[in-house]
Amino acid sequence: MVNKKIQASEENLIHVYNRFPVALERGDGMYVYDTDGREYLDFAAGFAVTGLGYNHKELNDTLKEQIDKIYHISNLYYHENCGEAAKELNRISGMDRVFFTNSGSEANEGALKAARRYAYTKQTGRYEFIAMENSFHGRSFGAVSVTGHDSYREPFEPVVPGVRFAKFNDLDSVKELINDKTCAIILEALQGEGGINLASWEFMNGIRELCDENGILMICDEIQCGMGRTGDYFTYQGFGVKPDIVTMAKAIGNGIPVGAFAMTNDVAEYSLRPGDHGATYGGNPLACTAVKKVIEIFERDHIVEHVRQVAPYLEKRLDELVDELDCVVRRKGKGLMQGLEFNIPVAEINQKTIAEGLLVIQAQGNVIRFLPPLIMEEKHVDEMIERLKRALTR
Ligand SMILES: *Cc1c(COP(=O)(O)O)cnc(C)c1O
Repeated sequence: MVNKKIQASEENLIHVYNRFPVALERGDGMYVYDTDGREYLDFAAGFAVTGLGYNHKELNDTLKEQIDKIYHISNLYYHENCGEAAKELNRISGMDRVFFTNSGSEANEGALKAARRYAYTKQTGRYEFIAMENSFHGRSFGAVSVTGHDSYREPFEPVVPGVRFAKFNDLDSVKELINDKTCAIILEALQGEGGINLASWEFMNGIRELCDENGILMICDEIQCGMGRTGDYFTYQGFGVKPDIVTMAKAIGNGIPVGAFAMTNDVAEYSLRPGDHGATYGGNPLACTAVKKVIEIFERDHIVEHVRQVAPYLEKRLDELVDELDCVVRRKGKGLMQGLEFNIPVAEINQKTIAEGLLVIQAQGNVIRFLPPLIMEEKHVDEMIERLKRALTR
């Protein structure tokens, strides 16, 4: 099973990932293939990244063309696709100004800095952040400081000071933490890593109101739940809420490393100034070409509407498992971001699904996550359920 490539990784890489003994070589649509030619049905999308699936010919051709023209210029110069990608991101998110990063962590890092910079210009003296328990915002110091799992932060303390954690979906616990030092509240409208926990209508709208009443900025981390996954371009849109700052990454480039934070003009007016922030690679021509093309394909192929159409079938088939199998406690989630909570260890389940040729992802709270490429069809759900059932009886 352990081939030479896997061996080399084990010996030469810092061991921070618990990898499965599988070496993947190529992908096509909803499937990926290992070096032995074995097929895996993908319900992970590389952590909700490959929304358009693998080997998307039109996207690949566009990226190849861009590589042949130019793919790095630095941010001292303009590239047409950078402005156009930003314009499209603003249009679909309802924001006004974008900064491109290389990852999700960096997007959150920038959003936190932007919020502090806003307070600095306005001289409000506000610097504290309120984040949620069970949240995940990334691994850089700022991002990990607002991540609501002690195990991610503790080995690296002291982290960024001034962060307090409220209970997700408990508005009173947020109210208790608000004071005249509160600068911003950061949250995922649908927590991914934390176990697929959807915010309630009252919670999302309540936070918006609390922010408005108290002069606090609302930051929505849409890195995992955004870009069409829950049946809207961004999950906050399903709550009729507009944040002040939005962070994005993962699916916006379909796997080309790119992230972004975006803000309203009201925030931008008082926030980052020339020289305050930057990223050498951020928003390079290749990344921006990817974002521009991905959104173009989303629009033309009606990907968001497609998610709305197929998601109920995934929900139905997962609900059947809750009824059928004693080991499945419940289903959670929205759109094509679903979780099943088990009463048996999910690490083992994950290994067994791989043996059955199915990729899924574990989350906190004994949850298996289903994050298929958004191009998924009902027949893939049937195939997934078959493979999952085989894995569970293995
Ligand atoms: C993945 C993720 C991040 C971090 O993104 P990276 O690109 O890994 O830095 C931040 N927030 C959420 C909600 C995520 O799912």
